[in-house]
Amino acid sequence: MNNNSIQKKDTEKIAMVGTPCQITASTLMTDYADYTGNNPMELKIGLFCMENFSYNYLKELLKEYEINLKDVVECRIEKGYMWFHLTENKTFKIPLEDVKSCIRKSCKICMDFTSEHSDISVGSVGSPEGWSTVIIRTGKGLNLVENAKKNKYIKTMPITDQGLKLMHNLALEKKSENIKEIKKRENIARPVLYWRVMPPEEYLEEVKTSQFKDLKGDVIDIGGCVLCGACLLSCPENIIQIKDRKPEISGECPPECNACYVACPRSYVPENISSRDMEKSPFGDYIKIISAKASMFHGQDGGVVTALLSYALADNLVDKVLVVDKSTVNPWKPEPKLTRNLEDVIKASGTKYAACPIFKPMKNE
Ligand SMILES: Cc1cc2nc3c(=O)[nH]c(=O)nc-3n(C[C@H](O)[C@H](O)[C@H](O)COP(=O)(O)OP(=O)(O)OC[C@H]3O[C@@H](n4cnc5c(N)ncnc54)[C@H](O)[C@@H]3O)c2cc1C
Ligand code: SF4
Ligand code: SF4
Ligand code: SF4
Repeated sequence: MNNNSIQKKDTEKIAMVGTPCQITASTLMTDYADYTGNNPMELKIGLFCMENFSYNYLKELLKEYEINLKDVVECRIEKGYMWFHLTENKTFKIPLEDVKSCIRKSCKICMDFTSEHSDISVGSVGSPEGWSTVIIRTGKGLNLVENAKKNKYIKTMPITDQGLKLMHNLALEKKSENIKEIKKRENIARPVLYWRVMPPEEYLEEVKTSQFKDLKGDVIDIGGCVLCGACLLSCPENIIQIKDRKPEISGECPPECNACYVACPRSYVPENISSRDMEKSPFGDYIKIISAKASMFHGQDGGVVTALLSYALADNLVDKVLVVDKSTVNPWKPEPKLTRNLEDVIKASGTKYAACPIFKPMKNE
C-alpha cells in the first residue's frame, strides 16, 4: 500500500465516459484505491468498442487520400467502411481493410466489446440510425436512465430481437478473433498479463513488488498499452509523463510503491474485474438492454451519452464529468477534459477514433 490515498483528498464526485479498457482502469483504481489513490468515480458510462486507431497513423493514411483532417466534420465506422463527412456536404469512405494498419496493437488483444464493468454501456450497433443501444448494468445506472427519461432528457423503446442478435454476433466475433491473437502472443513470449486472470488474493501477491520498470517491460514495450493514463494519475511521485505515444518516467520509484502497476488495465487483473467468462459471454452482466435517443442533444448516434452526462450534472448527481473533446490545435485529436460545464459536455459529443490518456486531466486537479 502507498500513501496516495492520503495525498489526494478529492471528495468531488465524477462521472466518466470511456472505452472498455478505460472503464477497466477506472474499476481497478476504485477497487484498489488503497494502492492507487482515491478514485472519485461515481458513475461510469462505457462505450462499445471494436477497435481504436493511432491518431498519427490515421492522419498519415488520410494524407495519401489527400484528405486533411481539418476538413472532416464527422467520422463514422459503418458497413465495412470508415466514412468521413467533409465540409461542403462531400463524403469520403475508406474500406476498413485499408484502415487496419492504423489499429492500435493493444486493441488486437482486447476481449471487451461493451464495457462490461460500467454502470451503463452505450453503442450504435443494434439500434436504428439516430438511436443508441443502452445496456443498463447497475442499480445506479438504472436510476439514471429512468430519471433522465422522466425529465425528458431521453426517450426509449425496446430493442429488437434482430438488434440483439447483431450485438451478440459482433461481441462474439471480437472475442473469438482476439483470443487467437492472445494465444499467439503468449506462444511467442509476449505475455498478455491481463488475460492471465487470477483470484484477488493471488493478484495482490503477484503485483506486490511490481513498479514502473515492470510496467514498461510487461505492457508498454510489448504493444499492450492502451494509453489510458491511469498509471500517470495514480503515481504519487508525479514522475510519469505521457507526451504523445507512451508513458515514460523521469525519476526514482520509492521501494514500497506499485500504484501504476495496479492501476494498469493491461498488467495483471483480478478475476472479479476481468473474468474468463468474458471469452464466452457476449455482454457481461446486465439488468436490461434498450434503444434510446436524446430529446434535445445531437451526438454520434442517439446523443444518449451527452444527455445522460448532462442530466447527471444538472441533477447534481455528480460535480464534474470526464469527457473526450477534440484538440483545437490538431484537428480530431482526442483531448480529455474534466469539466463542470454543460457546454463542454455538449461540445465533446461525437466519436473521436483515436486513443487518448483520458485520466490525465484528473491529475491536475
Ligand atoms: C474508439 C471507439 C470505437 C467505437 N466502436 C464502436 C463499435 O464498434 N460499435 C458500436 O456500436 N459503437 C462503437 N463506439 C461507440 C459509438 O461510436 C458512440 O460513441 C456511442 O454509440 C455513443 O453515441 P452517443 O450518440 O450516445 O454519444 P455522444 O452523445 O455523441 O457522446 C459520445 C461521448 O464519447 C466520448 N468519446 C468520444 N471519443 C472518445 C474516445 N476516443 N475515447 C473515450 N471517449 C470518447 C465523448 O466524451 C462523448 O461524451 C465506439 C466509440 C469509440 C470511442
Ligand atoms: S483496447 Fe482498443 S478495442 Fe479494447 S476497449 Fe480499448 S480502445 Fe477499444
Ligand atoms: S512510477 Fe514509480 S512511483 Fe510512480 S506509481 Fe509507478 S512505481 Fe510508483
Ligand atoms: S501503461 Fe499506463 S497508459 Fe498504458 S495501459 Fe497501462 S495504465 Fe494505461
